[in-house]
Amino acid sequence: MLFLGFLNSLTELILVLSSLAFLGFATWFCAPLKSYKGLKTLWFGLFVLFLGAVFYVKYDFLMYYGVSIRVVVFLRLFLCVCATVLFMIASSEILLSKPLSIQTLMLFISFGLLLSFYGVYISNSAEFQNNIETGLPMIGLMYLFLAFISRPDLKNHIGEIFAAMAILGLIEQTAVHLFLRFNVSFIFSLVLLFMLAGSYFLMLAEFYLKQKTQMEENLKTMSENMLGIIKSSPFPIVISKLKDDTVVFANQNALKLFDLNALELARYHFGDFFVDSNNRKLLLEKLEHAKEVKDFEVLVKSVLGQTPFWLTISANVIEYDGELSLYAAFQDITERKQREKLLQNQANRDPLTAIYNRRYFETMVEQKIKESLIKKQGFAVLMIDADHFKNINDQYGHKIGDKVLIELAHTIERSLRPDDIVARYGGEEFVVFLNGVDSKSSLVVAERLRKTVEQSVVYSDFGEPVSWTVSIGVAPSGISDSVSLMIKMADDAMYVAKQKGRNRVCLYNADDLSRFETTSKSKEQLHPLLKDQEVEISLLDGMQTNLNLKE
Ligand code: GH3
Ligand code: MG
Ligand code: MG
Repeated sequence: MLFLGFLNSLTELILVLSSLAFLGFATWFCAPLKSYKGLKTLWFGLFVLFLGAVFYVKYDFLMYYGVSIRVVVFLRLFLCVCATVLFMIASSEILLSKPLSIQTLMLFISFGLLLSFYGVYISNSAEFQNNIETGLPMIGLMYLFLAFISRPDLKNHIGEIFAAMAILGLIEQTAVHLFLRFNVSFIFSLVLLFMLAGSYFLMLAEFYLKQKTQMEENLKTMSENMLGIIKSSPFPIVISKLKDDTVVFANQNALKLFDLNALELARYHFGDFFVDSNNRKLLLEKLEHAKEVKDFEVLVKSVLGQTPFWLTISANVIEYDGELSLYAAFQDITERKQREKLLQNQANRDPLTAIYNRRYFETMVEQKIKESLIKKQGFAVLMIDADHFKNINDQYGHKIGDKVLIELAHTIERSLRPDDIVARYGGEEFVVFLNGVDSKSSLVVAERLRKTVEQSVVYSDFGEPVSWTVSIGVAPSGISDSVSLMIKMADDAMYVAKQKGRNRVCLYNADDLSRFETTSKSKEQLHPLLKDQEVEISLLDGMQTNLNLKE
């Protein structure tokens, strides 16, 4: 039997126990291994065997307490049966990663018990008992040996080969005792147990090495897969070096979008795609604050420099080929931008005449006034109202009325400069912002406009010529910087023109207003700014009279 006959001194006992403890310690480290359970069971098996050895040597104290020698021997044999069964379970766990079935276990245990019973109570031969004690564990150890060397690619498993060798040593030790009745020194047992522990560490090292290679392989496959996904992505994707901005990767869609040559990628710079190259800097600045930038809208162009188009960029910093790189995925939003522009246009324009509407006029003119003030330029607001327009509707019908409004709108637009703003203010009223004019020239422009309108004509369904006139109120700059006040003043001046007989131009003048009693409010209430401007207004009045030939 293993450890047999040599655990005579306490020192020997402690030494074997410590080597078993060391093996237990090594086993504890094997938790990540698949065979961990098996190794644990193997340790228990060896421990039970050790108990058997101790029991064998020190059993006389049991007899001292009156336990019969047969019971003691039976217990000894039973411990050997237990160790053998544990070795069997360990072999199965190491080889198949599962314990033996309960039926097989029962069979082994019953057989062992029967054999022990026979040995103690029937044959009562010391020789037979000795054979059971040594032979049974030897069978268990042989199973373990087979379990360790049954790895399909054994030559790559040095740990398992070492373990198998250690177990072989234990088998040999048992065999020597069984067949030659000779006890090998207990030192041999110690060496074998240490060798077994060493083999565990080898197994562990192999396991971690394999895990590392596996992880590296996984990483490689993963990055290959990722590259495959990127290549076939429906979005154009470009990867460029952060260091010098050169393009290192572009998928098929990006090649097509930017007209790139796949073989000369390094020739291109990511910044080349932007219409405004500052956008690249802006994108990188954003990336410094956030890990990822999403929906960054930019106007880009192909390298052949064709019509720019709108894109959104989603970008982040990645490592590509060992270098910090910028990963950018694009989405073409030209269509969306065009749609937005169309909608914006629709929101800004009058549906009948297609010229700007009142809301847009007010916003734009507010800006224009600010600009004019900075540039110290004059400006004027004109209010234009069709005369007796109701009569046109009544006489020729609403359709012709619409036609007149359209024609009137276009006549006004055609007569003015591109940086003037024309808008339909309401029904048959139009407003104009004249850019860079003094009051005198604003009156000239208005008068010229009035005359042009007077000459324009549309035809009714029956071919009758329809002509019309307008009354124009002019509010010059210098009185107010507020859009609404300017419009109000132009409207008041237009009212005066109506009162004076229509088809004429009138410059805003507070005195005229009070004369025609357009409002119950006092001059100050209407336009507080006016007080200081009175001199200038009266000077302009003269000009109005000269120009207003009809008056
Ligand atoms: P006044 O010289 O005093 O301005 O007289 P008027 O008839 O032009 O003024 P009034 O305010 O009495 O009438 C304006 C008319 O303009 C009444 C309205 O039916 C007509 N109108 C307003 N918007 C439209 C439009 O979009 N199409 C047509 N056909 N007529 C319109
Ligand atoms: Mg009107
Ligand atoms: Mg009118």
